[in-house]
Amino acid sequence: MKVSDIYKSGKQSLSFEIFPPKKEEELRDIDDTLEVLSQLKPDYISVTFGAGGSSNCNRTIELARKIKEKYKVEPVVHLTCLCYDKKEIDEFARVMMDSGIENILALRGDIREDVPGKNDFIYASDMVSYLKDKYDFCILGACYPEKHPESADLVSEIHNLKKKVNAGTEVLLSQLFFDNKIFYDFKEKCRIADINVPVIPGIMPVVKATQIRRMVAMCNASFPERFQKIVDLYADRKEALFDAGMSYALSQIIDLIVNGTAGIHLYTMNNPCIARRICEGIKNII
Ligand code: FAD
Repeated sequence: MKVSDIYKSGKQSLSFEIFPPKKEEELRDIDDTLEVLSQLKPDYISVTFGAGGSSNCNRTIELARKIKEKYKVEPVVHLTCLCYDKKEIDEFARVMMDSGIENILALRGDIREDVPGKNDFIYASDMVSYLKDKYDFCILGACYPEKHPESADLVSEIHNLKKKVNAGTEVLLSQLFFDNKIFYDFKEKCRIADINVPVIPGIMPVVKATQIRRMVAMCNASFPERFQKIVDLYADRKEALFDAGMSYALSQIIDLIVNGTAGIHLYTMNNPCIARRICEGIKNII
């Protein structure tokens, strides 16, 4: 099933993001995680993609295939393009089609000094156009309510996002944020720019103080004072921070739902306890 069809139905979606395990021995854990995640009946599960290196991609596709075949949930494969040429992207597309995968989150990937880029795709929108011309995948794309770190300002960010949507992106998944007002302002700017595809907020429930500090720095995310107080107070009390982190994420999610969001994309960090707790908190709501 194409993810874009879920949004056409008008239903508020719930989706999860997971990453493929790095080590063989973690493969059993991912099965345990998927067992729980699938029971929570998400509309789809997206699988991240390591930056550069074809074995990473194969692992992502293998896991996506398992999600579809064994757990009967629709998968979305994240696919980065900076380090691949057209021939390699064609090969991934062929494997995905053979695996029954219909949805791709088309990404550029981060620029890395250790992995040289190839020149076939400079921006995600280049791969979106390429895939749309040749294949029949539903294409999702990334968006950044607080702008991508490389963008000069939100005006150029939205201008470039519009190009990605015009190239054929059907759904946008957002970078994490901790202040809903930022997301609402961003959505309004998208509306003014005539970006008319669903913009799905990405929510990351915080369970560790080190994790949030790293994410805030990496993603350029604002860290609201009321959330900062929680993290500072409970930094050394694991269970307390888990409770407070879940409550904070739930308050963001409920506010988004009542304000008519098309869906929620939950960064699960492969932790089934997080997904279970969030779903428990909205089981009569979504
Ligand atoms: P683009 O859309 O190409 O944008 C990159 C930058 O270029 C932006 O500043 C944009 O404004 C600018 N730009 C775009 N088009 C143009 C243009 N035509 N002219 C001038 N400037 C332009 N990374 C991974 O490696 N693996 C993953 O699995 C992964 N999953 C992600 C999931 C989500 C939901 C998000 C939000 C990000 C994810 N990322 C992942 C991170 C992503 O790869 C990086 O943020 C990367 O630096 C940008 O990718 P993009 O697809 O957003 O790039």
